[in-house]
Amino acid sequence: MAATGDAAYIKQINRSLILQTIIEEKMISRADLSKLTALTRATISVQAADLLDDELVVETQLEHHSVGRRPIMLSINREAGFALGIDLDYGAMTFALSDLLGKLISLETVPLESMDYDDIIQTAAQQIARFQEQASSSRYGLVSVVVGVHGLVTLKEEVHFVPRFGWNNIRLKEDLERAAGLSITIENNANLCSLAERVFEHHDAKNLLGASLSSGIGLGIMMNESFFKGEDGFAGEPGHMIIVPNGKPCSCGNKGCWEQYGSESAFYHELAEKKGRDRVNHDDVRNWLQEEDKTVIEMIDSFIFYLSVGLNNMINLYNPAVVVLNSELLRIYPEAVARIEENLVSNISHYKHLHVSNLGKQACVLGACALGIKQFFQIPTLQLEAE
Ligand SMILES: [Zn+2]
Repeated sequence: MAATGDAAYIKQINRSLILQTIIEEKMISRADLSKLTALTRATISVQAADLLDDELVVETQLEHHSVGRRPIMLSINREAGFALGIDLDYGAMTFALSDLLGKLISLETVPLESMDYDDIIQTAAQQIARFQEQASSSRYGLVSVVVGVHGLVTLKEEVHFVPRFGWNNIRLKEDLERAAGLSITIENNANLCSLAERVFEHHDAKNLLGASLSSGIGLGIMMNESFFKGEDGFAGEPGHMIIVPNGKPCSCGNKGCWEQYGSESAFYHELAEKKGRDRVNHDDVRNWLQEEDKTVIEMIDSFIFYLSVGLNNMINLYNPAVVVLNSELLRIYPEAVARIEENLVSNISHYKHLHVSNLGKQACVLGACALGIKQFFQIPTLQLEAE
């Protein structure tokens, strides 16, 4: 970073502030931009000219304005480039292409026929090339490719461990960059989900916890707008926090881990056992809930209880404004939030809101697009509307 006295550095800071404000306000005049950013009219004027030259913003003259001159409004040229977000999950890869304001242009899930590493790289590279072609007629083309990985990612974007694939210390970033011929960002999926919640849903929450409960428990921790990652990048694995001493055995080698009690995979596994079936799904649970099935109600009670125990601990550690739970199971159980909150009664633990995610399965790819857009504009805070 240049010294704070460096004019180029100041100029970049101002540009970032102006872009962030235009995105937040959607459409804004130069005069209002000056007021909101506390930058002089002259600075706004020079910066706006640069942004127009760069085709990052466009001007619109308002048609109906009752008094005075019709102001010329600035807004983001949303199709100047496109962001690609990829959710690399076991069995399927999901690709989302968004414009520069996060609006999805396409959303496709490609089943993975082979779980072989080289085959996955090839499939991903072919798809990326297709989206690159689709974006090629715009000024900036594909501005970012961000891949969400369901495992441990180091601060240097090395993939340390992905349990479902059995991947250890693989060079996914380098291998994919070589195959696709462009720069790729690798990020943990829970982090991307929490970023999506922050960017698209919770504009007032600088400190947010996003917990994905589908397979195990993944936690994305956003503190003061940034991911909280720890020394190596591995922070946010509370699924392996012991909440029942000497409890159920876990694949990590310990007993009584939170995800053995508070994840959907554990719930479905146990429910299938109790029902004497190979597997059960969301529809089964929905039907059983309608029939007020005793086994399912007892299991939901237990799930809610253990989920609350872990959440109580997380809230005490992080004091978040918002906690978002991404869970299909909780989405079909309308009382979920109220029931969990009944258990969060400690007068020490503080949070403002607890929500079940509206973004659901799209959270990871939306977060991946958002991260790319944030990096492209070089802005610290991004607020977009989910459409
Ligand atoms: Zn464990």
